[in-house]
Amino acid sequence: MKPKQVLITRAIPEAATDLLKTRFQVEVSPHDRPLTRKELSKRVRGKAGVLCILNDRIDADVMDAAGPQCRIFANYAVGYNNIDVQAASERGIVITNTPGALDHATADLAWALLFAAARRIAEADRFMRSGQFKGWAPMLYLGQDITGQTLGVIGAGRIGSTFARKGRAFDMTILYTDTKRNPELESVCGAQYADLETLLKRSDFVSLHVPLLASTRHLIGTPELALMKSTAVLINTSRGPVVDEAALVQALKSGAIRSAGLDVFEEEPRLHPELPALQNVVLAPHIGSATHATRKHMGLIAARNILRVLNGEPPETCVNPEVLES
Ligand code: NAD
Repeated sequence: MKPKQVLITRAIPEAATDLLKTRFQVEVSPHDRPLTRKELSKRVRGKAGVLCILNDRIDADVMDAAGPQCRIFANYAVGYNNIDVQAASERGIVITNTPGALDHATADLAWALLFAAARRIAEADRFMRSGQFKGWAPMLYLGQDITGQTLGVIGAGRIGSTFARKGRAFDMTILYTDTKRNPELESVCGAQYADLETLLKRSDFVSLHVPLLASTRHLIGTPELALMKSTAVLINTSRGPVVDEAALVQALKSGAIRSAGLDVFEEEPRLHPELPALQNVVLAPHIGSATHATRKHMGLIAARNILRVLNGEPPETCVNPEVLES
């Protein structure tokens, strides 16, 4: 019998590709960029499983282009706002993601951005490279204290609570908001539940960890930025459209907030045209989960999910478990 065909839409760590190759005929996109819509529709044709990335828009058209033999799209990410899950469920296609594998990597990156923004590390680095350093000076690159300050976490799920727990090491008061309480987080680090308005008013640092949903699009816009302290720092490692980027640019320019650290952008890879010129924002190219070990772990979860589903077994992680029951 001919082996089933699997598509990997962009090269990922070899361990995952090698695992899939033990059982399937594997096609890996040869391009060092996301596939275009046309290329994606062409390459999915006839595949039993697809390992896709967050830049791939997986909608009904792509699923239909794959054909009725297609059983699984395994997203190489925990967020799956790029996938029309309802369309997949209607077609009996399993959708999987990589929850848990990237909690520490993404939380650590949020902390890196927080430190970089608070202590002006990127600005200072640019200053050093331009040869302007003339020696220690009393007023050079003054930043903000972190230890003992108030940390506001929006979305206390896997990544948000991992991020929050690390705040204990800096003796921070931890506030969080979510659509549901997180009693474990409250008992582990004394985190206090607050509504969004209270959290924004009280926090020195605000970090976003919600999924991109209709209800979280532009969760932070002009009114929310206006509630924040003028000394506050906003960190976004969730998804770009959670923040109204034009409103954030205005807030950074007017001094409504002090600074920001961003890993994600509203219209990636495009940046708001005024962002690159602002000194009080640290920019990262969507690298929240980008450590060697984490990316390998994510790849292996996605590969094992494909192996299991194409072998008639339930996957390790599933976004639409109703499909497994039918
Ligand atoms: P999760 O589902 O464990 O946590 C999300 C939390 O947000 C949940 O507790 C949920 O109840 C809460 N939430 C939902 N709507 C809310 C709202 N309106 N207000 C407040 N809270 C709300 O997900 P996770 O694994 O922690 O991942 C969170 C998101 O982080 C992902 O969906 C993804 O978009 C993003 N992410 C980004 C990167 C990166 O590279 N920058 C890496 C990993 C994940």
